[in-house]
Amino acid sequence: MNAELFKNESALVVFSGGQDSTTCLFWALEKFKSVVAVSFDYGQRHLHELDCARSIAAEYGVEHHVLDMSLLGQLTTNSLTRKEIAVDEAIPDGSTTPNSLVEGRNMLFLTFAAVLAKSKGIRHLVTGVCETDFSGYPDCRDIFVKSLGVTLNLAMDYQFVIHTPLMWLDKSETWELADKLGHLEDVRTKTLTCYNGIAGDGCGHCPACTLRRRGYEQYMNRLNSK
Ligand code: ZN
Repeated sequence: MNAELFKNESALVVFSGGQDSTTCLFWALEKFKSVVAVSFDYGQRHLHELDCARSIAAEYGVEHHVLDMSLLGQLTTNSLTRKEIAVDEAIPDGSTTPNSLVEGRNMLFLTFAAVLAKSKGIRHLVTGVCETDFSGYPDCRDIFVKSLGVTLNLAMDYQFVIHTPLMWLDKSETWELADKLGHLEDVRTKTLTCYNGIAGDGCGHCPACTLRRRGYEQYMNRLNSK
């Protein structure tokens, strides 16, 4: 992609405060003239995630919106929004649906993001969804994102472009991208991915921490073998 292509345009980043969306935020800050971020409060297990998002956005002077999506918790029963349900500890392999699945979450988030973006005259949406570490979330797939892009354009008669810079990267390549953007340590220390709500390197044993650490170690091994 031509690095100068979007230098006169703005982007809206779907931003949770986790590793992936924070890497996307730095990617967007590099590519676009200006960047706005949106986070969703859906009663997630660890509201500390939103604190991470707020403080990263503030540090980099990014206009940040937090939208109330608490109705998601009323619609579904899952371990991300119900404290009494323990998160599946197994690493998802795509063969079963993890109990952390919030049905339709990415579709809803991208749709609300698009409404907000259009109200600000922004047509570029950026999301950190990824098909490579596919963990049983159908609305993270490339084909879904492409389909939603068409639907949003028709729904709002607007030329949205949905960017998915992580779609074909594995976790180690996502770390590599953060490093290339000059923000490896920011992503490592300031984001929250852990299902047990611990920022930075996390609890170390939940599926999110395991994937994150494994990717980091793979990237470090690649770097050190060069
Ligand atoms: Zn953890």
